[in-house]
Amino acid sequence: MAKVVPLFSGSKGNSYYIGSSGKGIIIDAGRSCKQIENAMSINGLDMRNIEAIFITHEHTDHCSALKVLASRYETPVFASKGTLRELERTEKLSNRFKTNVIENEIALSDMLIKRINTSHDAAESCCYQVTTADDKKAIIATDLGIMTDEVRNGIITSDFAVIESNHDIELLKNGIYPYYLKNRILSNKGHLSNESCAKELPEFVKNGTLRIMLGHLSRENNTPELALTTALNALNSCNMKRNVDFILEVVSEETNGKAVIF
Ligand SMILES: [Zn+2]
Ligand SMILES: [Zn+2]
Repeated sequence: MAKVVPLFSGSKGNSYYIGSSGKGIIIDAGRSCKQIENAMSINGLDMRNIEAIFITHEHTDHCSALKVLASRYETPVFASKGTLRELERTEKLSNRFKTNVIENEIALSDMLIKRINTSHDAAESCCYQVTTADDKKAIIATDLGIMTDEVRNGIITSDFAVIESNHDIELLKNGIYPYYLKNRILSNKGHLSNESCAKELPEFVKNGTLRIMLGHLSRENNTPELALTTALNALNSCNMKRNVDFILEVVSEETNGKAVIF
C-alpha cells in the first residue's frame, strides 16, 4: 500500500510526501523547515525516514526549506542538472550536500521515480511520476506552462495525479498583478489555468486516471470552488460523474491531515 500526503500546495509553497508505511520521499520543500517538519508530524511522518528530496525546479515556492532540511537530516537531493546548478548558484544548496542528477529515472528503496520534463520558466524544470512496489503510479504535475505530450502521458499512465489548476483567466486578467507578471503566468512557460486543466480531464479519466487532485492554486487569481466547478463542468459534459466515474478534489494550501491511498 502506498500513499501520497499533500503537505503544502499553492503560490506560498509546495511539498508532497510519497511512500509506503514507513519510508518515502518528498517532492519539493517550498515552506520553512519548521512548517514542513510540523506538517509531516501532523501526518505521522518523520523527516528522518525520508530517503530523498526531489526538487522540480528552483523557484522559491518549491525549495525554500531545502538548504536547512538537507543539512539537518543529511537527506540526498535529486533534481535535473540545470536545477541543481541554479540552486548552487543562488546558494540554496551547497556542494557539501549529497546531490544527484536525475536524468531519466531512478530506483530508490521499493520505488521507481521517473523524471518528466515540464514547460516552465526555470532552468530545467520537471515533475515526477512515482511507481510503488505494488506497481501503482502517482504523479505530481504542477508548474506547467502548457500541457505537453510528455506530461499528458505521465498522467494517463498514473493511477493518481495532482494536476495544476492555477488560475481563472478572467480573474488574473482583471486582477492586481502587474502586466509583465500576468503575461508570464499566461505564457507557455507559466502556469496552467483552470480552463486548460479542465479540458484535459475527460481524456485522463477515459484512460484510467480515476483519482485526481487539482493543485498549485493561486491565492490571488483563483478559488478552490472555481477550480473545482470548472473541472467538474468539463467532466460532466462528457457524462462522467464525480464519485461514480472518478474522484476529484482540490489540494488544500496546508495539510488537512489526510493522505491519499492509491
Ligand atoms: Zn515555478
Ligand atoms: Zn510553483
